[in-house]
Amino acid sequence: MKFLADRMLGKLAKGLRMLGYDTIYYRGEDAYQLLQLGRQEGRVILTRNTKLVPKRSEDHILRVMEDKPLLQLKELIQKGYISLDKENLFSRCLLCNTLLIEIPREDVEGKVPDFILYQQEEFFQCPQCRRIYWQGSHPENMKRRIDELLLAESREHRA
Ligand SMILES: [Zn+2]
Repeated sequence: MKFLADRMLGKLAKGLRMLGYDTIYYRGEDAYQLLQLGRQEGRVILTRNTKLVPKRSEDHILRVMEDKPLLQLKELIQKGYISLDKENLFSRCLLCNTLLIEIPREDVEGKVPDFILYQQEEFFQCPQCRRIYWQGSHPENMKRRIDELLLAESREHRA
């Protein structure tokens, strides 16, 4: 499942990338272009806009009802569009959606603060924008919220 988030859903797009989902964020206001982009790449269009409706049979639009990013992620889980898979967590660049590659520790020397270099074992880099990631480089509150989601879901499974 690949997604295309419209301009109202930038935070949701980041959340989806954090979960490992291929998500493009369209900042424009042109509904025609948005639909076009969705068709070209077979993406589910995520929108809060009630006026955006499918024009062709291949248009797949999901109107997001919730207002807050975390609840929006929950909504997508409940509607069966996404699932939480620990394997895929933090596998994508939050800025440009590219899949990250693991890079050797010695390669990040001088590119991250020294204390990070000594603290961390694993480093990943975005081959597109060159941003370097490590455990904990993700925005803390977003990560915590996703942990909460994981916890809530595993409780539901046990119940
Ligand atoms: Zn990137």
